Amino acid sequence: DRLTRTSADDIERAAEAALRPRSLDEFVGQHVVRDQLSLVLQAALGRGTPPDHVLLSGPPGLGKTTLAMIIAAELGTSLRVTSGPAIQHAGDLAAVLSSLDEGEVLFIDEIHRLARPAEELLYVAMEDFRVDVVVGKGAGASAIPLSLPRFTTVGATTRAGLLPAPLRDRFGFTAHLDFYSADELERVLLRSAGLLGTALDAEAASEIASRSRGTPRIANRLLRRVRDWAQVRGDGSLDLRAAQAALEVYEVDALGLDRLDRSVLEALCVRFGGGPVGLTTLAVTVGEEPETVETVAEPYLVREGLVGRTPRGRVATPAAWAHLGLVPPSAGGT
Ligand code: ATP
Repeated sequence: DRLTRTSADDIERAAEAALRPRSLDEFVGQHVVRDQLSLVLQAALGRGTPPDHVLLSGPPGLGKTTLAMIIAAELGTSLRVTSGPAIQHAGDLAAVLSSLDEGEVLFIDEIHRLARPAEELLYVAMEDFRVDVVVGKGAGASAIPLSLPRFTTVGATTRAGLLPAPLRDRFGFTAHLDFYSADELERVLLRSAGLLGTALDAEAASEIASRSRGTPRIANRLLRRVRDWAQVRGDGSLDLRAAQAALEVYEVDALGLDRLDRSVLEALCVRFGGGPVGLTTLAVTVGEEPETVETVAEPYLVREGLVGRTPRGRVATPAAWAHLGLVPPSAGGT
């Protein structure tokens, strides 16, 4: 009798979940990380003990949650999921930790956003498999140690640099996920099309891949939009014509930049004449948190050679001006 709402986000998440690789073998790309992780897991399985704690860092949508699920699946155990912002107090984390079963994997998304007291409790738990439960208040308070089952923490963060050293040091294995190549994204797309029961032709796969911002989540999302276009306005085939038409309808530009990327570029070029401009000023101008600009938009813009980071701030490169179809001021003045 409770009314539940399903938001557009929930629908996207469900569509995404259906396309998630379930094993390391199905996980496309990231060869080095996959190889290293496979060793860690096989060694742990061979010893019959939980593996070291794992820290995954990298921009959104590159597969951190997917890898956490795969780690639990490969270990034949279950995954418990929480996130930094969901844990307001150390007590919340103590409750999560004490409910774990032996060998389980605890996934903490956005681990860099844990509150300080929870963070301190976590590193004791990760190191000694114990939490100290504080009973009473003031001078009469005492800590009762509570031992925990052995578990594996998988932490995910878009900013490994923000984790305090004592917490970072508790992770025996740290992996950084990087943007995917167009080739790898094509493989992600062909796999996903297979799971969706549709045939994606090679030219269309290559077109979508090159406009997916190096990110499997975006590739899968665009694939679903191309499928919509083919079904409603095309003849049902996922070919180059359908891909190009759908990407045009959804205003995905040639580099796959999204709204935030483009506003950052436009602010940099038009408002600040190409920079240099500080991160905070840039973020205020585009109406976003500095952390979002720095972790979501910037890594890809830097990788594509559109934005440079200098000690005096962010600068637009000639490629950024060219991408926006604008002429940089110095060139215009001559
Ligand atoms: P966020 O931090 O925003 O939650 P994330 O890094 O945890 O992002 P995931 O949710 O794991 O990203 O991945 C997004 C989607 O991309 C998944 O649903 C999955 O289908 C797909 N995906 C990610 N990595 C791969 C991969 N290596 N091979 C195939 N598909 C992948």
